[in-house]
Amino acid sequence: MIVAKRKPLDEIKEMLKPYNKILVLGCGSCVAVCMAGGEKEAGLLSTELQMAFEMDKTLPPSGGTPPGSAKQIDTITILRQCDREYIDEVKDKLVQYDAILSVACGVGVQFTAEVLNGEKVLLPGLNTTFLGATKEPGMWVERCLACGDCILDETGGVCPITMCSKSLMNGPCGGHEKGKCEVDRNRDCGWVLIYERLKKLGKLELIKDIKLPKNYGAVKRPDKIVHEAYQVVGKEEVKK
Ligand code: SF4
Ligand code: SF4
Repeated sequence: MIVAKRKPLDEIKEMLKPYNKILVLGCGSCVAVCMAGGEKEAGLLSTELQMAFEMDKTLPPSGGTPPGSAKQIDTITILRQCDREYIDEVKDKLVQYDAILSVACGVGVQFTAEVLNGEKVLLPGLNTTFLGATKEPGMWVERCLACGDCILDETGGVCPITMCSKSLMNGPCGGHEKGKCEVDRNRDCGWVLIYERLKKLGKLELIKDIKLPKNYGAVKRPDKIVHEAYQVVGKEEVKK
């Protein structure tokens, strides 16, 4: 899943200052799992913002700081902001606001803006950080950099690009100590993890294979995938 964390409240507040009718748009998928932008988090953020702007209104206009103006802050959460059908369901409501603070990942923010065809200001409430997994309740760990040319079959299911601090393809670099990485001694050395995994799988011979330099051109950014059942032949969409 995509893992993200909320931006600091002051940064969000600053972005929202010019707008009076604001919608906090939650996303019920990845960012709900990592407790950054789901229905609950969108609601909490909306309340925090409301209180913060209310407090600004009561501040004396000293030091050249103007008192805040009245804000209306509402919340809607849809299942996925990266899926047009869910955005379309609430499109009529979205266009009623001066600005939409999306607490989805960067994909959701951009895609919602795209569906709204640039009619509304879309602002990011989260910092999107990585593709990861839930290691334990409340802890998410990065596991994939979406390189587009997966080699997990050669490395015992441990990604050297993500798990090695230097993304070495034929590691280790020699700087590891007691299984820890020289870049950060609190982190496991990715290549020690690969070695241990291959050993456990009885496939240690794989570590001797020299891997060619990674083809980072495997993905042309921004990439696009069209399922074969939806490929267009001429002007006609063919569904197999
Ligand atoms: S090799 Fe690593 S970065 Fe590339 S797709 Fe596989 S897990 Fe992701
Ligand atoms: S110590 Fe291990 S994880 Fe760290 S950079 Fe070297 S090979 Fe990569």
